[in-house]
Amino acid sequence: RAKSAGGNRFELADPEADARAITRHGLTTALPAALERGEFFIEYQPLVHLGDGGVRGAEALVRWLHPQHGVLGPDRFIPLAEHTGLIVPLGRWVLEQAVDQARQWRERSGDTDPVRINVNLSPCQLTHPGLVQDTVDILERAGVEPRVLCLEVTESALIGADDDLLKPLRRLAEMGVDIALDDFGTGYSNLANLRRLPVSVLKLDRSFTQGMQQFPADPVDLKIVEGIVSLAHSLDLAVTVEGVETGAQAEQLRLLGCDTAQGWYYARPGPPDRLHELALVDAAG
Ligand code: C2E
Ligand code: MG
Ligand code: MG
Ligand code: MG
Repeated sequence: RAKSAGGNRFELADPEADARAITRHGLTTALPAALERGEFFIEYQPLVHLGDGGVRGAEALVRWLHPQHGVLGPDRFIPLAEHTGLIVPLGRWVLEQAVDQARQWRERSGDTDPVRINVNLSPCQLTHPGLVQDTVDILERAGVEPRVLCLEVTESALIGADDDLLKPLRRLAEMGVDIALDDFGTGYSNLANLRRLPVSVLKLDRSFTQGMQQFPADPVDLKIVEGIVSLAHSLDLAVTVEGVETGAQAEQLRLLGCDTAQGWYYARPGPPDRLHELALVDAAG
């Protein structure tokens, strides 16, 4: 290893850390071929309207079916793909798949309101010059209207964002694509800064939802969420909550005025057909 020649300080490395580094290295080098061989797949998790319980959309969440390690979650490989730049073609692939899935759902459900699709964007994709054109092309090829798509960008990716970084998001928002601020409340963004961002949805981080596990919830948590919701609504932003695991959480978040929810209480991420069934049951009932 590179360091061992330089002295003996690194000789007594932690074998577990070594194993992790080797796996990381192996995964990183395997990423491009995995994309070519079609080892990635997408699960969809429904987004449910808290007012009427209807399925309004789904978030696309990528997974890697690794030939040796089995199914790997995005936390295992997205950071690696970001590091090597593979996130750009991988992210484009996810967008293509998700938009095509939205087209299929719509074809199968006739002319009821289309199920909308949420796709996560990495900071690297934001700075990639092809983002707007790629998105336009993908939507046009599938014949899907921009309003069916919501792109999720984390709050931390936009902290201190200058105008150059916001320009592509503005273009997309002007076309009718929704932009959501993901994991909201975990960063240190200036709330007043929200006005400057071309976002139409706040996705409240799971840490807030966790505070609602007890009924009644911690009064301070309630106040914080209440404040965020009223601020969001006054800026014309919709509020989605992630990580809803119990009915008590769902009920309290509904009472606090949150618009949409996502979490295991409704459904775990799963194959596209399951979502179609959920949405159909919903449309029929
Ligand atoms: P995220 O965008 O905040 O997605 C929500 C995560 O919470 C997902 O984890 C989802 O499976 C999980 N989750 C949903 N409901 C619950 C619940 O009730 N309880 C708990 N404990 N967890 C819940 P997942 O699928 O492991 O994804 C992790 C992160 O990876 C995502 O966080 C997102 O930031 C990133 N990611 C996933 N797919 C993509 C992608 O295609 N591109 C990029 N750039 N990032 C992605
Ligand atoms: Mg997300
Ligand atoms: Mg999120
Ligand atoms: Mg999250």
